[in-house]
Amino acid sequence: MAQCDGGGQLRNALVGTLAGLSLGSALRRAQAETGLETVDIRILFCHALGLSRVQLITGSEQKIPALQAEHLAELLCRRLTGEPIAYIVGTREFYGLALQVSPDVLIPRPETELLVELAIERLPRGGRMLDLGTGSGAIALAIAHARPDARMTALDCSAAAIEVARANALANDVKAKFLVSDWYEAVAGERFDLVVSNPPYIAANDPHLMQGDLRFEPVDALTDHGDGLGALRHIVAGAQACLEPGGWLLMEHGYDQANAVLGMLSAAGFASVRSWRDIAGIERVSGGCNAL
Ligand code: GLN
Repeated sequence: MAQCDGGGQLRNALVGTLAGLSLGSALRRAQAETGLETVDIRILFCHALGLSRVQLITGSEQKIPALQAEHLAELLCRRLTGEPIAYIVGTREFYGLALQVSPDVLIPRPETELLVELAIERLPRGGRMLDLGTGSGAIALAIAHARPDARMTALDCSAAAIEVARANALANDVKAKFLVSDWYEAVAGERFDLVVSNPPYIAANDPHLMQGDLRFEPVDALTDHGDGLGALRHIVAGAQACLEPGGWLLMEHGYDQANAVLGMLSAAGFASVRSWRDIAGIERVSGGCNAL
């Protein structure tokens, strides 16, 4: 694959190649010269040129003006350095909502939709819900959008993340209360019918942190800087104090953490403790019901 050098040589070469070409030829040349995946190239073309996917196909004879070729070359180069598509275009779809994302927040993952579905099933009508470590607001907003009767509180220790989440609530016309808080701190004394979280659960020494998209994501949203179970332990330890009797705690976790999380929940006295598998068949969410 072509590399994007610091001096911008490839970038300049791409501008020279793409300016004045028809869209159809430019797509082929960009592919040959960058080696990027076709799907990524199409997304970047649409974004740089302000076209829909249909317009990109039907407008293949249209010529690319020099200014737009520069923008396009810039975006292709960013992708070549490994920057995730979602950060380059600034949005990601999650549970049918278009969400703004920035490097201040984790990019929502499709497997997290499992947590959303389980929460929607368990939330009583008009129920109060808490999302811990909300990031872009993906989980809280997906649930609140599907359940306008819910009273949603979502918190994150990152003020920058809360800003992104608030913007996403506004853009999607969803009501939720967002708070900057170190886990349960800002909701001490409050009670909820359901608590959910997709906390940082990757172990500090996991090589995945140095690979792919994860290199560009906020490290504090990915890892607890320990064995990967630190945040999950903290969430379980504080959950009963803010759950109504019969209220559920549901947490996403890593592919090999289900047994450890089930152990924590049982030891804390939760009832109906169990795990659920994601679309890839991996035990991805575990939870229990507050029996106190
Ligand atoms: N699911 C993410 C991943 O494995 C990690 C998210 C998290 O730590 N909560 O890439």
